[in-house]
Amino acid sequence: MKTVALPDGTQVPALGMGTWMMGEARGRRAAELAALQRGIDLGMTLIDTAEMYGDGAAEELVGEAIRGRREQVFLVSKVYPFNAGRRSMPAACERSLKRLGVDCLDLYLLHWRGDIPFDETVAAFERLQAEGKIRRWGISNLDVQDMQELSTVPGGGRFAVNQVLYNLTRRGIEWDLQPWCAARHVPLMAYSPLEQARLLPQPKLAELARHLQATPAQVALAWLLRRPDVIAIPKSSDPRRVEENAGALELTLDTDTLAKLDRLFPPPRGARALEML
Ligand code: NDP
Repeated sequence: MKTVALPDGTQVPALGMGTWMMGEARGRRAAELAALQRGIDLGMTLIDTAEMYGDGAAEELVGEAIRGRREQVFLVSKVYPFNAGRRSMPAACERSLKRLGVDCLDLYLLHWRGDIPFDETVAAFERLQAEGKIRRWGISNLDVQDMQELSTVPGGGRFAVNQVLYNLTRRGIEWDLQPWCAARHVPLMAYSPLEQARLLPQPKLAELARHLQATPAQVALAWLLRRPDVIAIPKSSDPRRVEENAGALELTLDTDTLAKLDRLFPPPRGARALEML
């Protein structure tokens, strides 16, 4: 498995799995468990979840999927902004740990920026870290200005990743956010890497994929994975699609293909506000 280095030197899989919308329907549970377990078998051992997803149901599903193999997995969860305070965060983290059936998260992210001041949130993260409840912390949906502000509070520059919307149709971050993070050796976690599947039926992408004897999802993921500082976390509830997505690791896009993709999905020509879903 290709890996990406976190600022503390830890190597994590470049291709992981998302879990938004999972764990919410009984009828889909078996397939979802099989999908997550197949992904772990294939080395996609970074699993992204959040207290928000299904009101904790996704964390419970992940807990079931990783039972007996916790040590193989790099577990990421997220705290609601309104739970990112001195007292609220330890309680939220404890609830997440319980649902997941683990005693420690590998990475705990602030889901998006809320009203609680950054210094309070960072202090709460550091306390959880000192207590061994989380190994490291990070952020999600924070734009450059937010990261600059965060970096001014004590310990605020020590975030391990920024998880942001990034795919072929959402390239705004390449203008400023990606270079800002790269200069600080902070990797990006690309969420909705398939634009929630809306990207896949686009005829020109499908045609290009056919030409490469790959699928549109594999091209979209390989395009993200070509960068040394990007972790992609596609979600699928279908074990066969998880296998297909893992196939992106075998696909190398040459300069000609990358140029074609730039024509189909142009890079930004100026600064834009960070998009989010
Ligand atoms: P994705 O871009 O990963 O797309 C998921 C959709 O694509 C699902 O409908 C899935 O369907 C389908 N799909 C997956 N693989 C294939 C394939 N090979 N062929 C065809 N369809 C496929 O969207 P998400 O929004 O789920 O993003 C991924 C993860 O990122 C989330 O699950 C979550 O963990 C995280 N996230 C974080 C956010 C944040 O604010 N920090 C916001 C949004 C997402 P099916 O399941 O039926 O296969």
